[in-house]
Amino acid sequence: MDKPNTECAATHVVVVGGGIVGVTTALELRLRGHEVTLLSMDKPGSQEAASYGNAGWLNPGSVVPLSMPGMWKKIPGYLLASNGPLKLRPSALLQSWQWLLGFVACGATQKRVRRIARALRPFLADSAARHSALAEAAGVPELIEKKGLLVVYPNKAAYEADALAWSLRRENNVVWKTMERAELVALCPELGERYQYGAFIVDGAHCRSPGGYVAALAQYAEKKGVRYISGCAEKFLIDGGKISGVVYNGNKLACDHLVIAGGMGSVELASQIGDKLPLVSERGYHVEVPGAEGGLPIPVMMSDLKFGITPMTGGLRAAGQVEFALKGAAPDWRRARILLDCLREGLPRLKIGGFSTTNHWMGNRPSTPDCLPVIGPSSKVGGVYYATGHGHLGLVSAPLTAEFIARLIAGDAVPEVAPYTVERFCRGGKE
Ligand SMILES: Cc1cc2nc3c(=O)[nH]c(=O)nc-3n(C[C@H](O)[C@H](O)[C@H](O)COP(=O)(O)OP(=O)(O)OC[C@H]3O[C@@H](n4cnc5c(N)ncnc54)[C@H](O)[C@@H]3O)c2cc1C
Repeated sequence: MDKPNTECAATHVVVVGGGIVGVTTALELRLRGHEVTLLSMDKPGSQEAASYGNAGWLNPGSVVPLSMPGMWKKIPGYLLASNGPLKLRPSALLQSWQWLLGFVACGATQKRVRRIARALRPFLADSAARHSALAEAAGVPELIEKKGLLVVYPNKAAYEADALAWSLRRENNVVWKTMERAELVALCPELGERYQYGAFIVDGAHCRSPGGYVAALAQYAEKKGVRYISGCAEKFLIDGGKISGVVYNGNKLACDHLVIAGGMGSVELASQIGDKLPLVSERGYHVEVPGAEGGLPIPVMMSDLKFGITPMTGGLRAAGQVEFALKGAAPDWRRARILLDCLREGLPRLKIGGFSTTNHWMGNRPSTPDCLPVIGPSSKVGGVYYATGHGHLGLVSAPLTAEFIARLIAGDAVPEVAPYTVERFCRGGKE
């Protein structure tokens, strides 16, 4: 990880997007000897990116897609509950309905969710080790903690009702240990009475400051020779069907390759290239209680309330919620207040002040209907690659995404990316 490998044919690669995906990709490309420019509207690590405010989970158990058989029956209940985990603003119905139908269809059968789980597994399997190595190299080893992750249930029956999810995990070599209340409390003394049963995911890890981590990786990348430009990619220069440059803030920047890693901004960029990315923003929220991080030794997912709590350097963070809203619509802080209520429910003995004492945040998960990222070459323009659409799993998936892109740009055959290419959206939903 230390020295740039200058053996490969050096080309100039522009990576658009300074979130976790863009930054890890820029770094990987630089370490493989390319001249790399990272072009981002927002400074790496800043609050505007989804990569700032996530839950920090590096969970090998995330092979379970969000869309599962029978999901369609639960959606109306979620939507009707004012304090539930899902909200569809009426104004966003028109832009979201097609995506939602695709989302439900992708998880409609066991065969489909098994295929998605197998496709997610490579990103998750050794993610904690990859992130530890990155954090170590960037001089922030303390930001990745490998202490396991806990999923808690009101009782054993609720755990058993999740049997398909756990069988997907078993089939994908995820290791866990089930626990009764006494063991749960030994691990997390503040855990509320509501939770009597749980599963400890042994190889789980977490990032203690997702924003700080991206900033540290970007600094390390700059130290290694990545050039950083603060600007907005506006259009692309294409010569004979191949990318030759990017225009940002009115300036031209020549390049041999371009990586589109702009999170939700990737949709607009791809449309200029002629590719259609069916991403929608699944907006998520967090509340962070400064000073309360000592109250929870490891991250916990409250399975019934559909949110996760993570001890971060800046406080105890409760993250979750899915909201569909029009682009640019103001955050609805009621969603964050729900998370604070859930936090109180999950850890009732912890001293937690009112909402005004918390830090709260909203961000855009760039999500595909089939719960898989978009990684691979553009179907329209040579030299352009996508590294986006990671939805709920962008942090955990970033290191392998970066490796895939670097191998593609090196001209290697990378058959593993077949499930993630943009072309899958043109083929339709084949099984
Ligand atoms: C509440 C919540 C909890 C989550 N929890 C987890 C978790 O526990 N584990 C996990 O793995 N994932 C989690 N995620 C998902 C994860 O945060 C995202 O998948 C990930 O951050 C996406 O990273 P990204 O780099 O693709 O996009 P972003 O972080 O959004 O970054 C995109 C960047 O591109 C830049 N950009 C966009 N357009 C342009 C342009 N035209 N020109 C220049 N720059 C541009 C933006 O400025 C931004 O810097 C969570 C998300 C949320 C919202």
